[in-house]
Amino acid sequence: MRILLRGGKVIDPANGLEDHLDVLLQDGKIADVGKSLNEPDADCKQVDCSGLLVVPGLIDIHIHGYEHATPLGIDVDRYCLGRGVTTAVDAGSSGASTFAGLRKFVAEKCETRLLGFLHVSLHGLASAGCAGYGAGGECDSLKQVNADQCSSCINDNRDILIGVKVRLTADVCNDGINENEAFERAMKAAKASNVPLMVHHSISSVPVEGSADPSVLTCPGSLSKGDIYTHAFHGLKSSIINAKTHTIYPAVWESKKRGVLFDVGHGMGSFSWTVAEICAKEGFWPDLIGSDLHRESCEGPAYDLVTVMNKMLCIGMPLKNVIEAVTATPAKAIGWAGHIGSLTIGTTADITLLALESCDIALEDCQGQMRSLRQRLVPKGVWKGGNEVQITEPERFPNEAILESRRKDWPKLLIRDEQRPGSNAKRPKTSWEVK
Ligand SMILES: [Zn+2]
Repeated sequence: MRILLRGGKVIDPANGLEDHLDVLLQDGKIADVGKSLNEPDADCKQVDCSGLLVVPGLIDIHIHGYEHATPLGIDVDRYCLGRGVTTAVDAGSSGASTFAGLRKFVAEKCETRLLGFLHVSLHGLASAGCAGYGAGGECDSLKQVNADQCSSCINDNRDILIGVKVRLTADVCNDGINENEAFERAMKAAKASNVPLMVHHSISSVPVEGSADPSVLTCPGSLSKGDIYTHAFHGLKSSIINAKTHTIYPAVWESKKRGVLFDVGHGMGSFSWTVAEICAKEGFWPDLIGSDLHRESCEGPAYDLVTVMNKMLCIGMPLKNVIEAVTATPAKAIGWAGHIGSLTIGTTADITLLALESCDIALEDCQGQMRSLRQRLVPKGVWKGGNEVQITEPERFPNEAILESRRKDWPKLLIRDEQRPGSNAKRPKTSWEVK
């Protein structure tokens, strides 16, 4: 079976391509990319892509896909593949004791390519919910936090497992008592397996800035090149922004320059327009755009990866950088460059078609603060391994009930708009189709 995607604008940052090109798919692989490829014969299906962007299948580096076994798990095919994401990376839903189920019941069953960070806690997020909201924590007991078992599980499952995850939030680590030790063990597990560590850092007792004592752990300062700092744009305690000066902490800039990667990790509570705009003003773009899709974010306020990408476009991140942060950079970060995240000839035919449409829509952050979007990307087609996939849509977009309920957390923000968002804020249009 051959498919010719004709006349679209290809953006393939891994290969430095940004041009109107045709793309030929054959036997599940990228067979050719070029100007005006030959007219297809009868065996070749032609797809008119004029007016559309043709990009490598999107990679969402931060989702929670262990559905039915963890409180946060979502239907991966519905919220990822159906929205243009051909590869989703589960961010620590499972640990060494529970990974077998993630493999058997999710990774081997879903059509989306599911990879994963393994939680350093043996039971992963089996009973844990969103951090910082009083639910039981996966690192409440250090008996469950085992670096050796984590790295040996990764070594046995290299086809799926690509990294280690730890959540640094006081109330998932026995009110902060276990945070430093959990962080140490997670770093040890990642080093032993030679994989990146993804750290969630929010409402944490681990400081952003260093002290005079170099043995004191900081975050992101203690991370290594290639490690991933997720939830980069939250406005809560442990934000990368100094709440007094409204500037990015020098230690954060130093870590970025050293090669620590910063991920949006939007989720239910971790994206603030105010923080994102301060970062934009300083030219601090995220290296990775992950959605942190889970049960409490998938019908708002995150919705899906493309909606999170649209928020990055709204703060002024260039389109090419946005595409790079969901294709080439995540592929490299997880050690899968050369397999996914590019349109390199001979690699698997994972492709996403996107329309860049003008719109007039107000969209919320995680605490109900609003901004107006004038343009947005919309998924229009997806192929995974050369097979076309049905597009899905949010149930309600924007979801006013969710955005209204999120406003209760506005007082928790240390970095926020001057005015509390409320009923006088611009109301969003409620139709999915915004003209
Ligand atoms: Zn997460």
